[in-house]
Amino acid sequence: MKGYVQVYTGNGKGKTTAAIGLALRAAGAGLKVFIGQFIKMGDYSEIRILKERFSDLITLEQFGTRGFIKSKPSPEHFTAANHGLERIKQVMTSGQYQVIICEEANVAVSLGVLTVDDLLSLIANKPDNVEMVFTGRNAHPRLIEAANLVTEMTEIKHYYSKGVKARVGIEK
Ligand code: ATP
Ligand code: MG
Repeated sequence: MKGYVQVYTGNGKGKTTAAIGLALRAAGAGLKVFIGQFIKMGDYSEIRILKERFSDLITLEQFGTRGFIKSKPSPEHFTAANHGLERIKQVMTSGQYQVIICEEANVAVSLGVLTVDDLLSLIANKPDNVEMVFTGRNAHPRLIEAANLVTEMTEIKHYYSKGVKARVGIEK
C-alpha cells in the first residue's frame, strides 16, 4: 500500500487523539506502528495503555525531557530531540513499520529543537509504503506544503480558557 504524509495541527483539541486513533486502526489492520513522541516525557494515559497492552503492535518511544521548555530550550532538549530524529530515521528505513507518528514534531520545530528541514528530509527519504504523521500546533508552512493531507483542528470553544486544566482520561 502506498503511504502518504499527514499533518494534524491547529489550536483545537484532537491532534494527539486523532493520531492515537489512527494507530489503533492501523494496528487493527495488522500494520506495525511506531510512535515517537517529541518534547514531552510526562505520564499520559494513552502512553501507558499503549505500552502496557499494545506493545506487540504499537511501539512507543518518548524523546522529551522532564519539565516543560519554558523559553529557551536547554542542551538536554536538543540532545533528546536529535536522538528522536535519529531513531525515526532508523525506524523508517528498517522496513518494520508501516505507520510512523512523529507526535509533537511541529512543536519541536516551533521551539527550535528540530528544524523544518529535519522533518522535510524524513519525508524525502520516506519509503513509499510508509505512512508518516506529524502532529502538534504551529505546523511549519513548508511542512504543510510537503504533506499530502493536512488537518487543522480549529478551536471554536475549549474549557481550557475557563480554567479547566487537562483531566486524566480526557486530556491526558
Ligand atoms: P488531545 O490530546 O486531546 O487530542 P491535542 O493533542 O490536540 O489534544 P495539544 O495541543 O497537545 O492538544 O494540547 C495539550 C494540552 O494543552 C491540552 O490537553 C490542554 O490541557 C492544553 N490546552 C488546550 N487548549 C489550550 C490553549 N488554547 N492554550 C493553552 N493550552 C491549551
Ligand atoms: Mg497533543
